[in-house]
Amino acid sequence: MAPVLDPSSTYWFTDADEFADASRDKTGAGYVYSRWANPTVDAFEAAVADLEGTEGAEAFASGMAAITSICLASCKSGDRIVAARQLYGGSHELLASILPRYGITAELFDVHDFDGIEAVLAGAKLLLCETIGNPRIEVADLPTLANLAQNAGVPLVVDNTFASPALCRPVELGATLSVHSATKFIGGHHDLLGGIACGDFEALRPVAELNREFGATLSPFNAWLALRGLVTLPLRVERACASALLVAEYLSGHARIDRVYYPGLDDDPSKPLADKLLGGQGGGTLGFDVAGGREAAARFQEALRLTRPAASLGGVHSLIVHAASITHTQLNADQLASIGIAEGFCRMSVGLEEPHDIIDDLRNALDETA
Ligand SMILES: *Cc1c(COP(=O)(O)O)cnc(C)c1O
Repeated sequence: MAPVLDPSSTYWFTDADEFADASRDKTGAGYVYSRWANPTVDAFEAAVADLEGTEGAEAFASGMAAITSICLASCKSGDRIVAARQLYGGSHELLASILPRYGITAELFDVHDFDGIEAVLAGAKLLLCETIGNPRIEVADLPTLANLAQNAGVPLVVDNTFASPALCRPVELGATLSVHSATKFIGGHHDLLGGIACGDFEALRPVAELNREFGATLSPFNAWLALRGLVTLPLRVERACASALLVAEYLSGHARIDRVYYPGLDDDPSKPLADKLLGGQGGGTLGFDVAGGREAAARFQEALRLTRPAASLGGVHSLIVHAASITHTQLNADQLASIGIAEGFCRMSVGLEEPHDIIDDLRNALDETA
């Protein structure tokens, strides 16, 4: 009934030939060494591949390990990646600062700038974007991007973390790989780090081979926890979407909130794409601008009692991050504006608490700090 947790790092053989064959093959029928393959990790990979509708999946120690492995497996020195500007901070850092040290460069475009992307795509090794992108919770037009990528013969890699396979299956929309931070919705309980890439065996093979030597592989225990998280994924996502919509609607009508970013709201620019690609759902994450700027938003965040100021998203607890005081502290108001973030911008991940308790908490914190 419950999946078997097999924490073994190695597997013993009685037959020398069998040991030699298995070691050469690394991921064949028998297990040899858990950096190469492990039964609990395999079970997790099979479950996520099933949810994403892909031939296979490859698990990693974290979402960043998955994204880094994909970039390194696809590129060598002198190669180029094209990416949407609406990227997770770690991915942005990887493309902007780390990969250039190894001769791999990236060109970033607004995710809706199809002309700009098309103009530079030929000869690039990857097109990278997020289904629902940071910071303004924008939905990417995946079929259009997949079309551009296919015409240029470039693999499209979609970070599907914010949507989860419960809302979107990017490979069915034309992506080559769909990648997740399993730390977020897939795990769902704030108790594991993990990553996973999903796609055809052919597309996954170089990524898996690279990571087998790099060793950023998922631990069996984290795979086991993530398998447990997956059982409730559709229910958790359904609840998070329903509650996030209520929260977004509440905040939209509040005098101290300048603007709400949520693809589930009728007047949100991403609503048509959410209708087309996410089954009309807006996801569990929303953004909003607290009036009064940096100080007001920081005080508001401190006054919350239920929603916790913490990094991460997609779990059972509601979490909030005030960008200007947590993730983008070095930027002044003008610099923040240039990347589309207001000084009072907060990103909130709506958890599984009673939605009216979440809203009461927001109301109290806004009133207390008015
Ligand atoms: C958290 C996150 C990552 C990084 O995943 P880790 O598991 O923290 O390494 C990548 N992309 C997105 C969209 C994320 O939210």
